[in-house]
Amino acid sequence: MGFSLHLPTLIILSIAINLMIGGLLWAIYYLRGRQYCFLLWALACGAFAMGSVLAGARAVVDAPWLTVFAAHAFLGLSPLLLLGGLLRFSRVPTRPMRWFRYAFRIAFAGYLLVLLLTFQNDPLSARLVTTLFSAIVFGFAIYCLNVSATQPALPRRVLQVLFSLHGMLMLAQCLVIAMGWFGANQIDITTNAVLQLILVNHILLATATALSLSLLAFTRSERRLRALAEKDGLTDLLNRRSFFREGVRVFEKATLDRQAMAVLMIDLDHFKQINDRWGHATGDEALQTVARILESELRDEDIIGRIGGEEFAIVLQLSEDESLPVITHRLLNAIARKGANVNGLPLNLSASIGGIERIDRHKRFAELMLEADTALYSAKNKGRNRAEFGELMSLTETV
Ligand code: GH3
Ligand code: MG
Ligand code: MG
Repeated sequence: MGFSLHLPTLIILSIAINLMIGGLLWAIYYLRGRQYCFLLWALACGAFAMGSVLAGARAVVDAPWLTVFAAHAFLGLSPLLLLGGLLRFSRVPTRPMRWFRYAFRIAFAGYLLVLLLTFQNDPLSARLVTTLFSAIVFGFAIYCLNVSATQPALPRRVLQVLFSLHGMLMLAQCLVIAMGWFGANQIDITTNAVLQLILVNHILLATATALSLSLLAFTRSERRLRALAEKDGLTDLLNRRSFFREGVRVFEKATLDRQAMAVLMIDLDHFKQINDRWGHATGDEALQTVARILESELRDEDIIGRIGGEEFAIVLQLSEDESLPVITHRLLNAIARKGANVNGLPLNLSASIGGIERIDRHKRFAELMLEADTALYSAKNKGRNRAEFGELMSLTETV
């Protein structure tokens, strides 16, 4: 093959890239409240760079213990650290994690032993042992990513593809070395084009992997932060701010398309008494129960929010076959039935509902909210556990 790369340049490049990415990962670890997965990933890059430095020293130092044994020990440790970081990141529960830790130590000790027994024979045997070991570790990492189902899925899939490529590359390298052994001509790493290509691809893959790991970690925390900012921590429904944002969006679309929509305001009756009698924790459970009731009684496209202490609001996209009174009747029944007993306590929950349908005179979503609130006030005044409405477009189906 008329193809040749300058090996020392490649190795120096690989060391520099690994040190830079390792530094970046360490900085992330340092700056982000000490998430250990980043430290392990930084150490993985460091171990790879160290292994490469020691292996590169072979050209100037004749000390196989250092340039072969220690070099390969570091190179083999690198994917293991990567895997350790991944397991920490995926939050594998403590017990299996303890087993994994033992398994890692045993696997690494076994690897060192085989290395010890073989490194002085053929210069390529240590390389074969390391690549096989790395391929196995990458295979296990793919498996872990699969079972942990770490979210979000896209960077996880990217990592799986990268690990698969890593693993295949390692196996290809084993094949080239084995072919050299059993074939007629000896392989020399400094001139063999296939091995050089494998090294180039390895550098590219290592860089892509380090970047994907950061991407996975950042997209996951971004998701969590967004959920924290948009959801109500107790019930997991939308909080007041995001409910309004979604409400405005649906209102504008419904106005444009002249579609039927409505707003419901729901306030639990005498909730203070529930807290006073059964305690605040039970009150919290009651709120969660009501949230689940609303979710199960409404459709996926309806927007449900907890907009105050014991106040919920809903944006409904009305269909032909269901009128507002029918829906509110169903909700009140469900709350009375499923809220009669919460965790074995007779809470006898009930709610009052104020509802309003969008009509042409409504110019802003806030007007609907205000009129639903007025209707709610009237439901409370009329004795609670009931629904009252502002102007209704259609009262064809009554309850
Ligand atoms: P009404 O039928 O008139 O609505 O009576 P009420 O007791 O439900 O209304 P009020 O506004 O007097 O009391 C609301 C109570 O809701 C007071 C407060 O302790 C309780 N509350 C608000 N937020 C929470 C919460 O997050 N958890 C619990 N457990 N209680 C809450
Ligand atoms: Mg209230
Ligand atoms: Mg109340």
